[in-house]
Amino acid sequence: MKAIAVIPKKEKSVHLVEMDVPDLKEIKDGRGVLVEVLRVGACGTDREINNGEYGVAPEGFDFLVLGHENFGRVVEVGENVRELKKGDFVVATVRRPLGHSIYDAIGQQDFTTDAEYWERGISRLHGFMAEFYAESADFLIKIPPAIAEIAVLLEPLSIIEKGLKQAEDIQKRLDIWQPKTAAVLGVGNVGLLTVMALRMRGYEVHGFGRDKRENYLNGDLLEAIGATYDSTAEISVKDSTEKYGEYDLVFECTGFSPIIFDAMQSLNENGILILASVTGGDKKTDAVPSDKINQQFVLGNRAMVGTVNANREHFEMGVRDLALCEAMYARWLARMMTHKVEGLENFAEVFDILENSGEYKAIKTYFEIGKI
Ligand code: BGC
Repeated sequence: MKAIAVIPKKEKSVHLVEMDVPDLKEIKDGRGVLVEVLRVGACGTDREINNGEYGVAPEGFDFLVLGHENFGRVVEVGENVRELKKGDFVVATVRRPLGHSIYDAIGQQDFTTDAEYWERGISRLHGFMAEFYAESADFLIKIPPAIAEIAVLLEPLSIIEKGLKQAEDIQKRLDIWQPKTAAVLGVGNVGLLTVMALRMRGYEVHGFGRDKRENYLNGDLLEAIGATYDSTAEISVKDSTEKYGEYDLVFECTGFSPIIFDAMQSLNENGILILASVTGGDKKTDAVPSDKINQQFVLGNRAMVGTVNANREHFEMGVRDLALCEAMYARWLARMMTHKVEGLENFAEVFDILENSGEYKAIKTYFEIGKI
């Protein structure tokens, strides 16, 4: 079968490889599932791996098959799989509990304390940019056919669901938390999905991006589900609180770390800031009003939390939000899926779009490998 791989840490090494179709018998306890990949999303993580920033090949290989945003159809199941059958649609989670931490042992590998981790398509495990993959049913999420068309958005959404779940859990420190307003910083693919998830929870949502509002599809999409859009070229997040009030929740997903200090100053009393950008660079910023920020956090019982990866429960929350969004705003999610590339052999096109997503006005770029 065909697959798309990189030589980890080698810049622009993306290439096509030929591999054997995996054997579900390699998965232990008769829990193997063979999945035909139908769609795979591509994101900043894939771009950064191809730029040599990170990524680790599985043991015994000098290449790593890319791809973690996945969607496929079950072809065959092992003798101890009862929850899935041939023909079912599935999405696989990304991280596997192969580390030594207590969190790996209890199935919360997304909270691992190990420095090394095992993530399909990212670190030590091959990913889903391939025609087939084999996986234990333990790591597969069943997808209702009604959301098959947009289910490739589930993995990025799962990251957001985990962030929101953490916020809810942390806010249990308050006997009553009735959040009403939220700001979402960054309105690319992840930001739009965050706005959606917050709208599904009834928040008044204000999205912020760098682009001007005119002719900006992302801005249209925000307004179509009842959120606002403001350009940070015109108003800072902090200044926006004069217009919208301080926010009960702020979700940061711009990839531009200096903005977090602005975000910290935009929170309401008892408010929570969720940080979800992976910023691999070495950007520094000065002129941070540290006394003021510290004072606000202390006197206002404010909280800030980082969040990465996701577990089964977050994927399942995501399935419900996708279904609810389809019911409330039919075809809205499909409008996010702006750039489809047919066939793995056209990988160069996918990476060109990822490198120049601004020019392409791409929100979600994805491979279509098989027909639904
Ligand atoms: C993936 C996560 C992963 C993270 C860090 C993200 O792009 O969606 O599952 O944990 O990268 O590797």
